[in-house]
Amino acid sequence: MRGTMMDVPLTVPLLADRAARYFADVEVVSRQPDRTLHRTTWGSVIGRARALAGALLNAGMRKGDRVATLMWNHAPHLETYFGAPLAGGVVHTLNLRLSPDDLSYIATHAQDRFLVVDDVLLPLLDKFRARAPFEKIIVVRHTPREAPAGCIDYESFVSSAGGRFDQPELSEQDPCGLCYTSGTTGKPKGVVYTHRSTVLHTMFVPFTDGLALRNSDTLLPVVPMFHVNAWGLPYGCALTGAKLVFPGPHLDAQNLLDLLERERVTVAAGVPTIWMGILDALEKEPGRWKLQPGLRMIVGGSAAPEALIRGFDKHGLRLIHAWGMTEMSPLGSCSWLKAGMREMPYDEQVRVRAKQGLPAGLVQVRGVDESGREVPWDGQTQGELQVRGPWVASSYTDMEGSEDRWTNDGWFKTGDVVTIDPQGYLNLTDRTKDLIKSGGEWISSVAVENALMGHPAVKEAAVVAVSHPKWVERPLAVVVLRDGARASAEELRGFLAGRVHSYWVPDAFEFIDAIPRTSTGKFLKSALREKYRDYRLPGC
Ligand code: AMP
Repeated sequence: MRGTMMDVPLTVPLLADRAARYFADVEVVSRQPDRTLHRTTWGSVIGRARALAGALLNAGMRKGDRVATLMWNHAPHLETYFGAPLAGGVVHTLNLRLSPDDLSYIATHAQDRFLVVDDVLLPLLDKFRARAPFEKIIVVRHTPREAPAGCIDYESFVSSAGGRFDQPELSEQDPCGLCYTSGTTGKPKGVVYTHRSTVLHTMFVPFTDGLALRNSDTLLPVVPMFHVNAWGLPYGCALTGAKLVFPGPHLDAQNLLDLLERERVTVAAGVPTIWMGILDALEKEPGRWKLQPGLRMIVGGSAAPEALIRGFDKHGLRLIHAWGMTEMSPLGSCSWLKAGMREMPYDEQVRVRAKQGLPAGLVQVRGVDESGREVPWDGQTQGELQVRGPWVASSYTDMEGSEDRWTNDGWFKTGDVVTIDPQGYLNLTDRTKDLIKSGGEWISSVAVENALMGHPAVKEAAVVAVSHPKWVERPLAVVVLRDGARASAEELRGFLAGRVHSYWVPDAFEFIDAIPRTSTGKFLKSALREKYRDYRLPGC
């Protein structure tokens, strides 16, 4: 139609061009396995990504071919984020915390032709290489040892095309990225992102009312680049021209705090367990690290307890709570205060900030009850959270039998249980699979966990259902205490009284050393349910 707008395909090369043209001198810093810092720039990263794209095409890459990565967070990984899509390929980030069996299953299911791997991860690759379909293995060397037989050195590969790369024509509907869900319930499932979904998602990641990334920011993604593309933050930095600081494999609190201080980081992102460790370290050694005032810490992957938000506020550091899923690229929502809310009493503000917040631009949400009716936005009624949007998957890739995750009218069933308040803020109360139904009433395990983690002696808490002869299910709290702290079940019971409904207070408390984690650092509740399957509650 004449007289309307240009139909410019939304493709990753647009992001690459922008970073290279306007932010060429902005630094990209990577901490190496030996803890030294490697410094480069957006200009060099994109230049090398184009060279990598040229090399991939020379090596026989066809449109849509998958280029797997098995790497920590660092600049060559960022080069692959751009190199594979620029060449018309699909970057498939493998989760290095999965078992060799899962990795071989995923790489085979994805039909990964190429693999870019850190030399320090070769021992892991050895455990499944024979069962994986990789035709070419390209090794990023951080140590002086040679690339093993049958592998190609990354530096030689990147320079092999002699700097020649002609950008192939791409459609915005071409695939450019692939991530697998963690598969804690059933086989991991693949989600393919298109150039269009990636660019649209990238536009909303830095959005002012939300994560609010800007050019003057320095961002440290603690979240691994294999966990839903580090939540889209690297592409978001290309758009805004923010400086990136990658932590490499050193993810303990001390090492992270040293890096946050040294590189004057203004925004960091990670799961709650990372921030729990950091807060602990700050409390133990107050004044040791000089962090940027107002440092923002994006927290997602599982619910951020109110106590964590308050704890960081005391240090002048701000947690920003976001929710997302692999199937959503991943940004679903973010909690920020609407106009006027900053005048509310502090406690009320924290309650809003601890919610999962308002949907990201262009994402639609609804809560649906068991009879299929949409639940009212009263902040009380629970329903399954369903979503729609241009960066939400419409199916899993090559996975028959999972169509029931989508409704007939085209919404994705998240498996998360939600209440929505009259202002539109989402509050996740559970996973549908974690729900506890006691005497016909739902108990929110997340609310009980968050309340428990507000007790000064409690480091971590997870609440799971155990069977009960009268109520069918009752909650059991599994608690990890802080080093040297003490608290009895009686005390915790008393602490919860008045903070949650009385029938939500767990019937029993188990104290353990550590809560098992998933490969992305979340509490692995299925393992707890298994461990306490035959648990006898007192008096039963
Ligand atoms: P993944 O695909 O591994 O990122 O996992 C997505 C799931 O993690 C969601 O469906 C939620 O159950 C959970 N999740 C992510 N972010 C949050 C959050 N901020 N609060 C509560 N749960 C979350």
